[in-house]
Amino acid sequence: MTTGSTWTAESAFDLSDEQRDLKEMTARLARERHAPNVAEWERQRSSLPDDERLRLGEVGLLGICLPEEYGGGGRPLLDGLIAIEELGKVSMQGAMPVFEAATGPARVIDLLGTEEQRARILPPVARGEKTIAVSISEPDAGSAATDMSTRARIDGDEIVINGAKRWCTGAGHSEQYLVYCRMGDELGAAGIGAVLVDRDTPGLSFGPREIQMGWAGVHHADMFFDDARVPIENLIIEKGGFKQLFTVFSIERLGNSTCSLALAQAALDRTAAYVQERRQFGKEIIEFQTMQTQLADMLVQVEAARLLIYRAARHAGTGTPVPIEASVAKCFANETSKRVTDLAIQMHGGYGFSAEYEVERLHRDSHGWAIAGGTPTMQRMRIASEYLGRRFDQRS
Ligand SMILES: Cc1cc2nc3c(=O)[nH]c(=O)nc-3n(C[C@H](O)[C@H](O)[C@H](O)COP(=O)(O)OP(=O)(O)OC[C@H]3O[C@@H](n4cnc5c(N)ncnc54)[C@H](O)[C@@H]3O)c2cc1C
Repeated sequence: MTTGSTWTAESAFDLSDEQRDLKEMTARLARERHAPNVAEWERQRSSLPDDERLRLGEVGLLGICLPEEYGGGGRPLLDGLIAIEELGKVSMQGAMPVFEAATGPARVIDLLGTEEQRARILPPVARGEKTIAVSISEPDAGSAATDMSTRARIDGDEIVINGAKRWCTGAGHSEQYLVYCRMGDELGAAGIGAVLVDRDTPGLSFGPREIQMGWAGVHHADMFFDDARVPIENLIIEKGGFKQLFTVFSIERLGNSTCSLALAQAALDRTAAYVQERRQFGKEIIEFQTMQTQLADMLVQVEAARLLIYRAARHAGTGTPVPIEASVAKCFANETSKRVTDLAIQMHGGYGFSAEYEVERLHRDSHGWAIAGGTPTMQRMRIASEYLGRRFDQRS
């Protein structure tokens, strides 16, 4: 059953032929290689198999936004987001590696690392041999990230790390971690820098895998640093660079927004088909006016989220978004995704509650994106602060 229309807000952005081809190619790959396996991956709580991750590298999706000289495609952020959406509509397993490589910590290395670090670290990411996760949150430092207490001290040609991290997406599974640490005695943001740590570094250990509401294929676990030593070459940002780190983090916020958008769009697509198939009282349920208005509400929110994301991505080009635009997009897309996927369950009736129809998975996963990368509440604070040009101290 088709929706009867191919209209979408992306038409307002005049995608290039290259971007349309990318969208089509990615959608086909997700449909053919991921869709048949999603239910099993979910049951097994498994991430994307290694051979499929390598394939994403081969077709250029992992390196899409990384520089060409390091094996990437050198394409704008919007292209990365187009790919993430197409993969995310089918599975979080497929979207996650591209989310990490095109919008996650690899972009920090790309934009803030040295020439030597880019040349060493980025090519394996673009090929799909290594994933880099980001490790900021701690048991006592979530929204208040600058309260982090994990310490990194320079000792000759090594950095020694001590502390504990929590909720890192990919913990125990990713090959490398960009770990935000306190690198001096300065309080708050001033003492924070970032170090790249290999998974098999002596002194780094992982707690048991977390059981969570959604993101079944994604590994989360506590990370413990006990005199973990890494070479000084892995110092990515020295203390004092927190503002730079968080400016680049706006890229990840748009990747996050796009995963929310993908879930909402998938819920809309599935619901549009379902309400034209399901019959009650002798007619298709879409013939009831309430169903029409609910479907329209879903569409309005999905399209508005896409416009906000595309605007921020367009302005970012191959660099970083304007922070307020990224926060506005994230706040709206996260909440849209939760609302739209919830409506999808309701409009599917009992089938919406069944795992077989998968809309319940979309809803569960949407909650994760609305916490990761800073909650919508914290985005609202950032939005008010940027809009007014004022800083609001949350502590006093
Ligand atoms: C699926 C998932 C993936 C994640 N991935 C990563 C990752 O890869 N790397 C990483 O480092 N972290 C990751 N996180 C952690 C995430 O960034 C934090 O969970 C998030 O920032 C919130 O922190 P918290 O859980 O400690 O909640 P808290 O900060 O304790 O917040 C609890 C509630 O209080 C509200 N609140 C807090 N401060 C204020 C305030 N000043 N004013 C008003 N309300 C406030 C919050 O909005 C929230 O509703 C992930 C989390 C999830 C769920």
